[in-house]
Amino acid sequence: MTKHEFKAESKRLLDMMIHSIYSQKEIFLRELISNSSDAIDKIYYKALTDDSLQFDKENYYIKVTVNKDTRTLTISDTGIGMTEEELENNLGIIAKSGSLAFKTENEAKDGHDIIGQFGVGFYSSFMVADVVTVITKPFGSDVAFKWESEGADGYTIETTEKEAIGTEITLKIKENTEEENYDEYLDDYQLQSIIKKYSDFIRYPIKMDVTESRPKEGSEGEFEQIQEEKVINRMVPIWRKNKSELTDQDYEQFYQEKRYGFDQPLKHLHISVDGAIRYNAILFIPERTPFDYYTKEYEKGLELYSNGVLIMNKCGDLLPDYYGFVKGLVDSEDLSLNISREILQHDRQLKLIAKNIKNKITSQLKTMLENEREKYEQFYEAFGKQLKYGVYSDFGANKDDLQDLLLFYSSKEQKLVTLDEYVSRMPEDQKYIYYASGESYDRIAKMPQTELVQDKGYEILYFIDEIDEFAIKMLMNYKEKEFKSVASGDLGIEDENNKEAEETTAEHKELFEHMKQVLSGKVKDVKVSTRLKTHPVCLSAQGDVTIEMEKILKAMPD
Ligand code: ADP
Ligand code: MG
Repeated sequence: MTKHEFKAESKRLLDMMIHSIYSQKEIFLRELISNSSDAIDKIYYKALTDDSLQFDKENYYIKVTVNKDTRTLTISDTGIGMTEEELENNLGIIAKSGSLAFKTENEAKDGHDIIGQFGVGFYSSFMVADVVTVITKPFGSDVAFKWESEGADGYTIETTEKEAIGTEITLKIKENTEEENYDEYLDDYQLQSIIKKYSDFIRYPIKMDVTESRPKEGSEGEFEQIQEEKVINRMVPIWRKNKSELTDQDYEQFYQEKRYGFDQPLKHLHISVDGAIRYNAILFIPERTPFDYYTKEYEKGLELYSNGVLIMNKCGDLLPDYYGFVKGLVDSEDLSLNISREILQHDRQLKLIAKNIKNKITSQLKTMLENEREKYEQFYEAFGKQLKYGVYSDFGANKDDLQDLLLFYSSKEQKLVTLDEYVSRMPEDQKYIYYASGESYDRIAKMPQTELVQDKGYEILYFIDEIDEFAIKMLMNYKEKEFKSVASGDLGIEDENNKEAEETTAEHKELFEHMKQVLSGKVKDVKVSTRLKTHPVCLSAQGDVTIEMEKILKAMPD
């Protein structure tokens, strides 16, 4: 029996890959630039151990050049280059990654900034190009090589001339078709925006010759076209900078640049975690509720970067729904990516990061509540409802995180108070946390049901959001004090008049029976109550569901 090896049909494989791995053609530029960045990283690592090599940051860069006449786009770098063998292995074999090998070999030297790993990114250039030409001169060699391919039919390699060490990749951009506009990959402006979108934080400068029209000197109203070499990328991401180097304005400007909202951020969090999980994040709590926040269109999520390269625009898994208003981004070097460089759906690392982020937001909000009450109330005005939904959802699983962040209007203080504030000033004989539901604070204040509780000098929380009572039902109690609606049948208040009331009810049994008959189907019982002081009559609830809740439940679609 002989064992045969599978041979990949590279022509078909290439086709398949080009058309199925990547959902957007523009990412070819991200892939080529990432490769260039890796190549510069490699020469940098080499310089760490090779005394003959100086790594002078100024001399290392990536350049993107366009030639509309020849329809070519060139990405060149001053990186480590490729030997003939490397050209064959790394560009000639699909799914072979020289960068992965480099990382594995250099593990001890901390090569985790290197981006490449799958050995397919390079081929994405065939999504937009008919011919790809690679001219490269490897470090330590006098000869340069030219690799050329039209994609499916294989490639050629020959020696050639190149002065400096590094690689130059030229794409012959495809002609436009009816479905696809390829011209945009020859357009300065488009290219700049693609670079900014995906590669803004590549650590080496990405240069381009950009034509700009400027007012002509010494003449009025006249403009001249000036071509200038510009660095397109920001390089050092703000989240990798030290907090102490950054001002509030820096964060605000970033918020605006990223178009996280039209408002100002109310608070920012700059997180750098370096332990079992490693990530950097910048998060913002907006000042105002986004206009579409309570609609289906609103999509929660944070931007997700892997090593400074954008992977996902809105990663919803990073935020629980109740913190869905948080904006910002996360950058981690530990994510497991799939072959098209998307995050794996059930990445363990991502889950850990999400949990960590959730805790950071919770403690940030607690700090704000403690130290900047006014600001917190502004926040609560915008997003408090979301926190209450958070308490209610998932069967109360998040209540420990959220209960101390809740605010309710207090009859006593005439302002918003926390549950802790309420409980800490409860008189000793008070057993429950009392609340009253209604349409507005004014209306609740006039409710007859509140009279006895008020009279006892107990504080009442006013619930005017529909969600309030549902959330509180999910909490059940706070610091071992149960919640009780002022409209519930038994208020749990010791009252010497209680007995008298029972006697009166018994005495006038017939009268009450008659009232019950008249109101039959509308009320369950009619009796004398001690809770009223100035009002003659009121409604109260019997079970757990109060009248307000019943109204809401009735209004819900079945
Ligand atoms: P990956 O980057 O995931 O390894 P690619 O298909 O993007 O896969 O690239 C394959 C390999 O080709 C890289 O690992 C690297 O060894 C080599 N390579 C690609 N571009 C360059 C470049 N500009 N300079 C040096 N080597 C490169
Ligand atoms: Mg790559």
